[in-house]
Amino acid sequence: MTESSLSERFRAFDENYQEIQERIARAAELSGRKAEEITLLAATKTVPVEVVNYAVSRGLGCVGENRVQELLEKYEALDRAHCDVQFIGQLQSNKVKYLVGKVSCIQSVDSVKLAREISRLCQREGQTMDVLVEVNIGREANKGGVDPDGLVEFIDEIRLLPGIRVKGLMAIPPICSDEKILGRYFSGMKQYFVDIKGKSMDNVNMVCLSMGMSSDFPLAIACGATMVRVGSLLFGARDYKRG
Ligand SMILES: *Cc1c(COP(=O)(O)O)cnc(C)c1O
Repeated sequence: MTESSLSERFRAFDENYQEIQERIARAAELSGRKAEEITLLAATKTVPVEVVNYAVSRGLGCVGENRVQELLEKYEALDRAHCDVQFIGQLQSNKVKYLVGKVSCIQSVDSVKLAREISRLCQREGQTMDVLVEVNIGREANKGGVDPDGLVEFIDEIRLLPGIRVKGLMAIPPICSDEKILGRYFSGMKQYFVDIKGKSMDNVNMVCLSMGMSSDFPLAIACGATMVRVGSLLFGARDYKRG
């Protein structure tokens, strides 16, 4: 990127970041929590690593990539000393090997096969991986995530695999502009989160409820999200050509 378009993106980030932090604080307060209790994860797909590093230098502490290839391309240049790197996209078992030792958390675990492969490779590498279980909260066909009806059984099946720690739930609800309906999905997630926490299962530590993106993160926080994943509102519309 040219110097001038980079500095433009830096300036845009500063503005957006400030505003998003304020909106997070307000939504947290409305739900009886403090801003510090909500983690802002920056969804950085298509965002040049220079811009991501600038964001990190401004205090952004958590970064999520959703494609393995793009993560690997950015990884060495990324200021990993100052940010936590997580994986948020759909993941095939045969790509897990590229993530172990590189990311702190895989947010998109939705099959026993995938969980087993994470466990196997973590054991081999002497690593541990935090995982979130992705829930298909809208029960959409052709979408990743565990069916809500089988969620407890799923967690019970993976929780004792060595090398992984179940830390919470993640969801991407159906695209929907009706706040009432969307709120129902988010509140449904919160209910699963609370119910599972209440079961006090060994090796399940329900601390992270990851839901809410650019268009709906305040609502997600109002419904109980502890982490929101924001991309385009932080960095501007994505340019997939450059991707
Ligand atoms: C891209 C992405 C986001 C952020 O989406 P925006 O609408 O740009 O905020 C959140 N979660 C996942 C899994 C993503 O891939």
